Amino acid sequence: MVNDKFIEMRWHGRGGQGAVTAAELVALAAIAEDKFAQAFPSFGPERRGAPVLAFNRISAGEPVRIRAAVTAPDIVVILDPGLLRIVDVTSGLKENGTIVVNSAKSLVDIKSELGTKWRVAVVNASSIAREMLGVNIVNTTMLGALVKATDVVKLESLAEPIRERFGGRAENNFKACQKAYDETSIIEQATTIAEPKKLPQIEKLPSWRELLVGCVVAEPGSAKRYRTGDWRSQRPVWDHQKCVKCGVCYLFCPEGCINRTEEGYFEADYFYCKGCGICARECRPGAITMVEETQ
Ligand code: SF4
Ligand code: SF4
Repeated sequence: MVNDKFIEMRWHGRGGQGAVTAAELVALAAIAEDKFAQAFPSFGPERRGAPVLAFNRISAGEPVRIRAAVTAPDIVVILDPGLLRIVDVTSGLKENGTIVVNSAKSLVDIKSELGTKWRVAVVNASSIAREMLGVNIVNTTMLGALVKATDVVKLESLAEPIRERFGGRAENNFKACQKAYDETSIIEQATTIAEPKKLPQIEKLPSWRELLVGCVVAEPGSAKRYRTGDWRSQRPVWDHQKCVKCGVCYLFCPEGCINRTEEGYFEADYFYCKGCGICARECRPGAITMVEETQ
């Protein structure tokens, strides 16, 4: 259990999933407990669906003066299970640190993927958020898992920040948070378990801060190489019975990844479809449904 005087946390989410809001809510809850706290995002050229980071520092003693990104966290929280495949979520995580993951997989499976050095807590936050909130936005749900796994703040300290932030939607958000608290499973670091599976090699790209001012960040054909399909947690599925072949989905897709078939229907190239759901939102006849990616 993490309960030190100074705690650093890193949130991994996707643009639009509310990682930054979750970090802010934790900081407000900590401040309500008379602690010192920071919450801040790492902003780059992210768009909806792209991997994003947010950070917290919480101190029960001294004011927090450091302003740099957290590179050696005590806790990492992962809002989207798809990030385990494409982001080095354990980078810099301290030995005996805690990983809190949203996943439908079993705790043992997740632990064997991540290794034995860390405590691991798992909850199916997507399922809870869909049930309690009607959408797969898991930030408030994952707060319950975080509190269960770490005691970094008290559950009741989150109630007021959630109420202020969400107004009329606060009650359901807090209920989702409580349900996740109840349903989170934890494996302590000492558990003996098989050697971790080898995770796929993660391509290291420079962050935007490391790029030289005015340098060219893309080369011809580079957009084609980047698998924005890896960002996806939901995929669009077309119903040809309802489709009137208007082509609006094709026009609105921000990735330009919708193609016209020989029969005049439309379909996504899942290599590049990032699952933003814009095509489904813009399709007036309701011919496109977003479905969860199987994990
Ligand atoms: S917007 Fe809807 S109805 Fe129009 S082509 Fe796309 S799927 Fe078909
Ligand atoms: S196909 Fe639909 S869900 Fe996929 S990127 Fe395009 S608009 Fe978004």
